[in-house]
Amino acid sequence: MKKTLITGAAGFLGSHLCDRFIAEGHHVIGMDNLITGDLKNIEHLFPLENFEFHHHDVSTFVHVGGDLDYILHFASPASPIDYLKIPIETLKVGSLGTLNLLGLAMNKNARILVASTSEVYGDPLVHPQNEDYYGNVSPIGPRGVYDEAKRFMESITMAYHRHHGLDTRIVRIFNTYGSRMRLNDGRVVPAFIGQALRGQDLTVFGDGSQTRSFTYIDDQVEGIYRLLMSDYVEPINIGNPDETTILEFAEEIIKLTGTDQKIIFKPLPQDDPLQRQPDISRAKEILDWEPRVPRSEGLKQVYEYFKSLSEEELWKAHR
Ligand code: NAD
Ligand code: UDP
Repeated sequence: MKKTLITGAAGFLGSHLCDRFIAEGHHVIGMDNLITGDLKNIEHLFPLENFEFHHHDVSTFVHVGGDLDYILHFASPASPIDYLKIPIETLKVGSLGTLNLLGLAMNKNARILVASTSEVYGDPLVHPQNEDYYGNVSPIGPRGVYDEAKRFMESITMAYHRHHGLDTRIVRIFNTYGSRMRLNDGRVVPAFIGQALRGQDLTVFGDGSQTRSFTYIDDQVEGIYRLLMSDYVEPINIGNPDETTILEFAEEIIKLTGTDQKIIFKPLPQDDPLQRQPDISRAKEILDWEPRVPRSEGLKQVYEYFKSLSEEELWKAHR
């Protein structure tokens, strides 16, 4: 039985990865310090013999007994309001956390995949973004704590590969949505659906002309799984190229939820990227991967999930 360590296991992406690797027959060790995650995302796995949970901060020394075949490093605050609130922890988990996990991978002779992001392209001057683009990031801006930590993560991962021959993979994840996102994590999908469910106006930042390209969780997990099982070590974009403006997106949520709330405009946060769309030629060619779930379908699924939460959760999350 393959043994796989997943950091950030109690978060949105990490918990779905735990489900996938359990379904593939792996023994999964989920590790998380619960700084932005929630145990309820993985509590259904606790009774399983091939799942164990380690409550641990990966920015401090990481120890795991026995062998390991794979490590997936997904621990990191991921939403702008989270990483603005905990900037030092964000820098630490991307730098020290990654260093610790690369060391563990060396020690165990394990393959390691690290979760990078489309944010390494910053506010991109090339559109759509392919993996050869170096990006346009302000190192000292408020988002720099996340972007630069992830850029460092990529550099040190490639250095371990080149210098030590470590078996590494790097995924550049574009905006992904699905069940188990926190309603109050500030990202636009839970923000708009939460507002619609609470009967509040939808807050569009700026004039809403900035674009994003949203990927459904099942497509993202499939892309990550294929990358891990491939032999490709350079970064690969995993994202859905279907691009929308945020204003159109707000209108789409109003239609989906049938709310009679309106759209209100708030200031655009500093360094908010104006456009984002993945070029996925590399993922198609190397991984034979492309997204299968259209936004209309994925949004229906995530709306059902948020609707199923209790009134208490809906409002508690908002406080
Ligand atoms: P999330 O906040 O739901 O999950 C992150 C998890 O990491 C949380 O459970 C948190 O408690 C844990 N964590 C944070 N710091 C830790 C530490 N020092 N030690 C142990 N655990 C720690 O966020 P997510 O959306 O699931 O993102 C997961 C990963 O994917 C992150 O690395 C993020 O940068 C990357 N990513 C996500 C997206 C997206 O659209 N969701 C896009 C690009 C990259
Ligand atoms: N956004 C918005 N209203 C909100 C939350 C976000 O208009 O209530 C915008 C945000 O400014 C950005 C886009 O939606 O342009 C996506 O934001 P998110 O935080 O989900 O992801 P990221 O900016 O990291 O891509």
